[in-house]
Amino acid sequence: MSHDPNCIFCKIIAGQIPSKKAYEDEHLLAFHDIHPWAPVHVLIIPKTHIATHAELGSEHAELAGRMLVLAPQLMKELGVTGGFRTVINTGPDGGQEVYHLHMHVMGGPRPWAKG
Ligand code: AMP
Ligand code: ZN
Repeated sequence: MSHDPNCIFCKIIAGQIPSKKAYEDEHLLAFHDIHPWAPVHVLIIPKTHIATHAELGSEHAELAGRMLVLAPQLMKELGVTGGFRTVINTGPDGGQEVYHLHMHVMGGPRPWAKG
């Protein structure tokens, strides 16, 4: 399990920065975004530090699959029934601000603040 001591999401995983957790297992953590775009807005992250989606390789296929499969399960648990949006921003041109791979999952009734 790789860990970057300067990474804000690694600090959330380590419990050094508080978060509102939505899900946790040995591979993944999901928590509510601090600046939500939608009534429900969670971030799904791997517990191991991977900076961006661009760094994912075939060795990460199972982990990536876990992230994708968790999204609908979480939305259901959080009461989202009308569909949801998943977004992964990658690199500077992709608008990525936090360099620890994360999948935004947003849902809830419209209108949304953004997106
Ligand atoms: P991105 O542009 O995809 O890198 O988005 C990073 C997201 O992380 C933004 O939506 C931020 O609101 C969110 N974020 C940053 N810091 C925190 C934090 N401490 N707790 C929860 N969400 C955060
Ligand atoms: Zn990290």
